[in-house]
Amino acid sequence: MNLSQATSYDVGKLKPDVVILPVGSTEQHGPHAPLSTDFLIAESIASHAIEKFQGTAIIAPTVPYGISEEHRNFPGTIWLSPDTFRNCISDILNSFIHNGWKKIIIVNGHGGNIDALSEVSANITRASNQTAFVTTFTWFKHSPNLLMGHAGETETSLLLHLFPLLVHSDRIPLSSSNKDSRWGDFQHGAQMAYDVDEFSENGIVGDPNLATSDNGIKLLNEASISLSNLLTSVSAIDLSSN
Ligand SMILES: [Zn+2]
Repeated sequence: MNLSQATSYDVGKLKPDVVILPVGSTEQHGPHAPLSTDFLIAESIASHAIEKFQGTAIIAPTVPYGISEEHRNFPGTIWLSPDTFRNCISDILNSFIHNGWKKIIIVNGHGGNIDALSEVSANITRASNQTAFVTTFTWFKHSPNLLMGHAGETETSLLLHLFPLLVHSDRIPLSSSNKDSRWGDFQHGAQMAYDVDEFSENGIVGDPNLATSDNGIKLLNEASISLSNLLTSVSAIDLSSN
């Protein structure tokens, strides 16, 4: 069930096994891909995963903002401070728990959110004395072989499959100048750059020229299978003994 399209009357009768909160960011994705890339992908993977899941799941409305100040020098980027983000996610999760939804999976599409989301997931779980359980599925971490980059091959492939009209394919050749797949500027193991424009002139890491819609289908399928398996595992957790 998609919470944003449901009535309170119907939601009140539902006893979901798991509730999903998609989270992303609104940040530049090079000249060819939309600012919404991270939250659109998180939301799409969540929707595909619940189709494969045997139990009952609710998808809550997506949080479109995240911790992405590093993109601030590119127009259109909107970010939350880490404190505001943690508080916002905590309030949403506590509302879920008040509704009686005790098994929660955050589906995350943005690397900058990872630390805050794992902190909040642990805090809420501990504060409930294990009567609730929250975990975070950052979709591009589900496989160790996935080369993520930023607006590069992986994200552009997914967009070409899911939202082809939002991709400016004619601008992808312009996006070829930064093929370095490292996120940042490291010297002697230390990060030397805090803003993306310091290490990527066009905001891209990786090569979107390698992106294909077919690869997008494969990436979507693999990520949604992993998430659906996680839904099954989380729904099987016994919280009643705590
Ligand atoms: Zn992204």
